[in-house]
Amino acid sequence: MNDEEAVFERERHRMVEEQLRRRDIREPRLLKAMSTVPRHRFVPPEHRHLAYVDGPLPIGAGQTISQPYIVALMTQLLLLKGDEKVLEIGTGSGYQAAILAELAREVHTIERHAELAERAKATLQALGYLNVHVHVGDGSLGLAEFAPYQAIIVTAAAPKAPAALLEQLDEGGRLVIPVGGQWGQMLERWTRCGAKYEQEEFVPVAFVPLRGE
Ligand code: SAM
Repeated sequence: MNDEEAVFERERHRMVEEQLRRRDIREPRLLKAMSTVPRHRFVPPEHRHLAYVDGPLPIGAGQTISQPYIVALMTQLLLLKGDEKVLEIGTGSGYQAAILAELAREVHTIERHAELAERAKATLQALGYLNVHVHVGDGSLGLAEFAPYQAIIVTAAAPKAPAALLEQLDEGGRLVIPVGGQWGQMLERWTRCGAKYEQEEFVPVAFVPLRGE
């Protein structure tokens, strides 16, 4: 490991201690994944020195990589055990997909900006994530081809939980999504129980909007 990588590793461990463990991130497998995935590799070179700060960062195309705590919180709400097929809407940098790949069997992630999807795919491949499949398209319709999913995560804000995503949840499956408008959203979890869904609300969040249907 060169000096720069050693500095990033120290910053990553500090991020886990100060931004995650001191808040409410408790799940040991998740804390391990957040300590393992090199977030700086998903951040554009001009912002790489800020990769482990407690906030979101620009990734191009007017989009952002989410704050580490929000990535961890949303992942924790998915209740992953290791054998799930997961769908992510909003690949962005690919960082959240890498965290999911550490914790689930298979990850499908969909991004509407082709250039972001290409960059994310290259980063994930370079890091050896063979269980992540990056798709280009409108994720507000989900990805029926590979449904059902035991977990779905939406990393952009929707006015309401899209019907197509609720339909693509497996029995007992969880959808985690920021719901609201441009001035703020609530993080919601929808759990499928037969033909019904249990809905829970967690914390206020601020995401870029989900475009599309
Ligand atoms: N999860 C990302 C990461 O780890 O870097 C951060 C995602 S960023 C906050 C939200 C992303 O959702 C953007 O890249 C945006 O282009 C994408 N997006 C917005 N609407 C979309 C849609 N309908 N289908 C697919 N992607 C969408």
